[in-house]
Amino acid sequence: MIKMQIENVGLKFSKALTPLKRVTKIIIHHPAHPTWGIKKIHNYHQKSNGWNGIGYSYFIPKHGGVQLGRGGNLGAHCKGMGMNNQSLGICFQGDFDKQVPTEAQYRDGAKLVAQLLRQEGLQINDVAPHRDFDATACPGKNFNMNKLKQYILEEMNPNVKGVVQTMSEQVKVSIATQNAIDHLASYGIIQKDYKVTKDFEITLISMMNGLVNAIENGKLKVKQ
Ligand SMILES: [Zn+2]
Repeated sequence: MIKMQIENVGLKFSKALTPLKRVTKIIIHHPAHPTWGIKKIHNYHQKSNGWNGIGYSYFIPKHGGVQLGRGGNLGAHCKGMGMNNQSLGICFQGDFDKQVPTEAQYRDGAKLVAQLLRQEGLQINDVAPHRDFDATACPGKNFNMNKLKQYILEEMNPNVKGVVQTMSEQVKVSIATQNAIDHLASYGIIQKDYKVTKDFEITLISMMNGLVNAIENGKLKVKQ
């Protein structure tokens, strides 16, 4: 995996930042403003909110790339469930109740998140939208979390790229998936009328990624 270049735009914080002790989640945001860039947001958080500076850890501009906010320091982006103390906040430029993220944002955002997950020893299910923790619609109804997660998985394991795509098409119609559900239902693990959602598919892909990684790292032997 190629290490993502992180641009430091030289934001000045009012006082020294405090490094996070632990990171358990990567939280996805939008600033809900159609054009504001990292400097405008920094200024707003500092002057209007009276904060130390921009609350987000990293910023993904519309044209792609990654810009440094608070980085691995204590942020101000997600109050719910004490998340500020234990998460990184990735903000994608735009208002995704009205706009859609660019392909460059999804790709570069995925590269950054894949890198952070690896660095922090986290899993794909540790990536969550802000709305999971606070009473907010953030990152907006047009932000496709499943698309971002698929891109992250592809970044984490390029070898399954084709498989990920094949699976995402299969799940809609797949008899194999239905068989798997029937099988699980026969053990009472899930209901027989279990509705296949995109999340279920993401879980399958995530499990497969885990297996491929275990095989590649020699932790799991495959009988030839
Ligand atoms: Zn948010």
